[in-house]
Amino acid sequence: MPEYVVSVGMECHAELLTKSKMFCGCENAFGGEPNTRCCPICLGLPGTLPVFNKQAVEHVVRTALALNCEISMRTIFHRKNYFYPDLPKGYQVSQYGNTPIGINGFLEIEREDGSLKKIRITRAHLEEDTGKSQHVDGLGYSVMDYNRAGVPLMEIVTDFPPDVESGEEARLYAETLRSILLYLGVSDGKMEQGSLRVEPNPSVREKGSEVYGIKTEIKNLNSFRFVQQGVEYEAKRQIAAIEKGEPIIQATFGWDSEKNESVLQRVKESEQEYRYFPEPDLIPIEFLEEYIESLRASLPELPIPRKRRFMQEYGLPATDAAQLVSERATADYFEATAKRADPKLVANWMLGDLTRLANAASQSVYSTPITAEHLAGLVNAIGKGTITGKIAKELIEPMFTDGKTVEQLIQERGIKVADAGVVQEIVERVIAANPDIVAKIRAGNEKSKGFLVGQVMKEARGQARPDDVNRLLDEALA
Ligand code: ZN
Ligand code: MN
Repeated sequence: MPEYVVSVGMECHAELLTKSKMFCGCENAFGGEPNTRCCPICLGLPGTLPVFNKQAVEHVVRTALALNCEISMRTIFHRKNYFYPDLPKGYQVSQYGNTPIGINGFLEIEREDGSLKKIRITRAHLEEDTGKSQHVDGLGYSVMDYNRAGVPLMEIVTDFPPDVESGEEARLYAETLRSILLYLGVSDGKMEQGSLRVEPNPSVREKGSEVYGIKTEIKNLNSFRFVQQGVEYEAKRQIAAIEKGEPIIQATFGWDSEKNESVLQRVKESEQEYRYFPEPDLIPIEFLEEYIESLRASLPELPIPRKRRFMQEYGLPATDAAQLVSERATADYFEATAKRADPKLVANWMLGDLTRLANAASQSVYSTPITAEHLAGLVNAIGKGTITGKIAKELIEPMFTDGKTVEQLIQERGIKVADAGVVQEIVERVIAANPDIVAKIRAGNEKSKGFLVGQVMKEARGQARPDDVNRLLDEALA
């Protein structure tokens, strides 16, 4: 069997976070009583006129800039005509042709080994979402909910020939894109609710061939894992078909996540069938240079560059840095704390005890009563020797539940770290009480020292500094 290579075009749709829909004043929100967030405009009733949502345009411009796109300084809307029950107007307002808001950009994915790969993006455009058909059991026909019709939607498409070359890269692309959208605050990126829809278009060809194979599209991939599985499955299916001498038909498949297989949905329309033409009810948008530049200046540092900076600047391991930048607010909280205390220790406390407490209370690390100042106070108190690590572990709980500072708790509880003189006395007592262990250590059995350390700590009720205990024991045993 010849060797095959996989190429994957990526089409992603993201619903935009705006108060109102794309062309009318209806509320933009998930779910709700069916058909309660509709009006004559989003239902496309005769005589109505759309007005575009400026916030949605701004979201697409900011995304396009973050994806290194050029901005079309003059951009227009088109009608994409097709008949489907979820499309009340009989057309979708979209952007066709070569002047979508963003063109010729790229996004970088980070492979497991830390290397970056550039995935070129051909366009980022603005359109509107459709309604939803629902199949109610026992009804015998489908019902329509138009609450989603007219919700602002952004479409992002990768360039041809595709740079994504495996199921894993397709998943990394989707994960990276989602984290960028979340950092920008333009979409909530919920794949399970469909506010981010990732549709890979895999094709296969013999290695070395210049001719790309016919692609198929996969839909209903509502998790990153399914994106990878879907691409891998479709690539295998296509290869098996080619090997059997069967043609690949350009078609859309749905992903069945129970059976882990793709199911043929429909054979693709060609572009001509959509009869695209400029939307006559909307004026063209002409951007001013100052407007674009002010949006460019508003862009945050993006997750992958931020992760790499955290590793460099704070000396964090890749896994810690990745966890800390997973959400923008978490990364901000880390940096606010790391300004005031040792960054590595801050990362350990954040990813350890604080994450545990926050998870148990269904909160995020950045929104608990432990502020950045409070966490830095805890870390610094250990550093200065005001409390031991053991006591810190006891104090973080009341800091979490009552929002108290470490200083308040030290006062309230009368916590004192034993001074070296007190520890010295305990060390002497422990050595006197354990002559056989002492003999073993002096005979070269270093491991037995741990027992003595434990005894001293126990007698000091955790209030001795580990450094003092080790130093004084070593001196006494020397
Ligand atoms: Zn409406
Ligand atoms: Mn689209």
